[in-house]
Amino acid sequence: MKYTGPTYRPPYEANSLLLQVTAGCTHNKCTFCTMYKDTRFSIESLEQVETDLREAKEVYGKVKRVFLVNGDAFVLSASRLKPIAEKVIEYFPEVEVITMYASINNIKSKTDQELEELSDLRINDLWVGTESGHEPTLDYMNKGFSLKDSYEQLERLNRAGIRHIDIFIFGGAGKGKGIENAIANAKLINASKPAGVSMTTMGAFGDSRLAQDVETGKFLPATELEVLEEQKKLIELIDIDTAYLGIHGINTVTFDAMLPRDREHAVQRVENAIKRLDKEFLDSVPERYSI
Ligand code: SF4
Repeated sequence: MKYTGPTYRPPYEANSLLLQVTAGCTHNKCTFCTMYKDTRFSIESLEQVETDLREAKEVYGKVKRVFLVNGDAFVLSASRLKPIAEKVIEYFPEVEVITMYASINNIKSKTDQELEELSDLRINDLWVGTESGHEPTLDYMNKGFSLKDSYEQLERLNRAGIRHIDIFIFGGAGKGKGIENAIANAKLINASKPAGVSMTTMGAFGDSRLAQDVETGKFLPATELEVLEEQKKLIELIDIDTAYLGIHGINTVTFDAMLPRDREHAVQRVENAIKRLDKEFLDSVPERYSI
């Protein structure tokens, strides 16, 4: 299998076939992200994709789930994604889901008809980097799309029948704004009805703009207590049926839950952590690493 530069996938795709269709990320400008800083964006040839599928067929025989890498693979036009999906189905007719990371802008660049055609080709469960429903936070993150775009484009996915798992960041709004962020995130989640919400925590890594802003005092990071209170608030406010996916190793309290069914238990887990952790830690901003 060919992989160029670093390859990332959600923890939940550990058992999926990772098939490279792009390298790097087209945007590569998010304030907090250093994942693809040293990788030039490129598109994999269909010939190489087919070579990888042939190899995977020999090794795995059957594959139910494929994750197309890398950072924003849904950037590929529908005319590029369709033959890739057709090849996947040719080699693995039993495949149930072909998924990948997607930016809100990647959805925006496709027509409703294209989204439906991609859905028919089993493209589903897109991992969308929504990051925040709090407008100033989203603007600071420099994602290249507006909050209005998030509301509109996630709704378009729903209409096309494409499930999505939306990624959000605890502590994304910085010191003193965790509850505001939780309220705004819950509002977006309740409106856009994702199949799941994938939670990570803000960390100032390497030479990211965020790390520089923390260094100069332009961005004041949330304390651990604020992050946990934000986590609790978000769980309390989500009122749709969705999977809370929180096992990312960067989070302090890691668990999965089905909401609203497991709400009470989930809230209790966060409250227990707040009680258990010592005050010094709760008042600190622990160093977090990109993983
Ligand atoms: S967060 Fe996603 S879209 Fe932003 S630079 Fe990183 S990989 Fe690209």
